[in-house]
Amino acid sequence: MERLETEIAIIGGGIVGCSTALHLAMRGVPCVLLEQGQTGAAASGVNFGGVRRNGRALEELPIAARAFEIWRRMSELLGTDCEYAITGHLKLARSEADMTLMARHAEAQAAYGVRVEMLSRNALVARYPYFGASVLGAAWCDGDGQANPRLVGPAFARAAAKAGATLREHVRVASVIKDGERFLVSGGDHPDHRLEVRARVLVNAAGAWANQVAARFGEQADMQAMTPQMVVTEPCPYFLVPALGVVGGDTYIRQIPRGNIVFGGGYGDTALEVGRAAVVPKETLGACAIATKLIPRLAEATVIRVWSGFEGITADHLPVFGPSLTTPGLIHAFGFSGHGFALSPGVGAIVAELAATGHTPTPLGPLGIGRFAGKAIRSC
Ligand SMILES: Cc1cc2nc3c(=O)[nH]c(=O)nc-3n(C[C@H](O)[C@H](O)[C@H](O)COP(=O)(O)OP(=O)(O)OC[C@H]3O[C@@H](n4cnc5c(N)ncnc54)[C@H](O)[C@@H]3O)c2cc1C
Repeated sequence: MERLETEIAIIGGGIVGCSTALHLAMRGVPCVLLEQGQTGAAASGVNFGGVRRNGRALEELPIAARAFEIWRRMSELLGTDCEYAITGHLKLARSEADMTLMARHAEAQAAYGVRVEMLSRNALVARYPYFGASVLGAAWCDGDGQANPRLVGPAFARAAAKAGATLREHVRVASVIKDGERFLVSGGDHPDHRLEVRARVLVNAAGAWANQVAARFGEQADMQAMTPQMVVTEPCPYFLVPALGVVGGDTYIRQIPRGNIVFGGGYGDTALEVGRAAVVPKETLGACAIATKLIPRLAEATVIRVWSGFEGITADHLPVFGPSLTTPGLIHAFGFSGHGFALSPGVGAIVAELAATGHTPTPLGPLGIGRFAGKAIRSC
């Protein structure tokens, strides 16, 4: 059994955990991250790759502002840009009610410094002639973008290790307790890989599994597993520069400059205990029908791969972010409800501030786990 003493222990090596480790290491704070599989391989590695604020919940925008500062200097921070590109983001309306909803939200977002321009159908097709008749207009955010999710988590992990953080993959945390002033975190299923970490602070960045950690300290978020399905086509001539979403979120589409078109829609089958979600073919067919209605020329593209992933989604679709109410030194950062790829680089910076100093200048408002206290809980 290997025993490590550290300042901060992190459970979970998604982008949240790896970004936290990097920011702690850059502050010179010792930390140990434990990941049951490979870093960046769960939700962080299989998502759509949208890096947007357009249409996001207002409560998340201060975190998004921190995240976007980091996205913009990704190359400098990680030594790679992870194919991050500011392409703009269009949120599409398919009814007048959608347009009204987006126009109201655009006004509210302006107070947070997020500039969103409303485009009528005529203005939209003058710029982007490829949309089908079902699209009635859009909200355009020129500062939003996209990146390659397969690259981001591992790049944060490499940078964190280089900066001095200790990262251990294939170590599943099986037990965690508070022993006096220190957390005692034990993991590793194989007798040769048993590990015990003692730390002053514990970061719960266990993604869809995080309620299992929270439960050990008498806390729970109302959170279910969400299993979005994704599709990628063969390369086609590059035409779709902005990333796309729709009001209601039933599809989201982007094209990478190599030509492949990536889109999401429908849900797979959950199996949290085996660590993956299975693709449901009829959901894929439904996603193709929705996407081709928005952009008819997509019907010419051949699908070459489908997959699904899972993520925790809370009852109010907001993350669980901030200190525990039951246990001093425990910080929760999970349940990013499909928004965490864009936010995670900033989440890590904020968690590192909280863990190292107990404070952050970024307002976390109503995101704490306390909002679920005393309520009926569903848990994945
Ligand atoms: C298909 C799909 C599409 C998405 N599209 C977008 C998008 O376009 N834009 C966007 O912003 N967000 C998107 N998201 C959401 C985004 O991917 C997540 O919010 C984000 O990756 C969460 O990062 P994380 O680090 O919290 O979680 P994860 O990446 O899931 O990492 C958590 C890690 O904790 C580990 N772990 C759990 N329990 C233990 C344990 N006991 N011991 C050790 N390790 C443990 C897991 O193995 C996992 O690696 C999407 C999600 C999915 C599934």
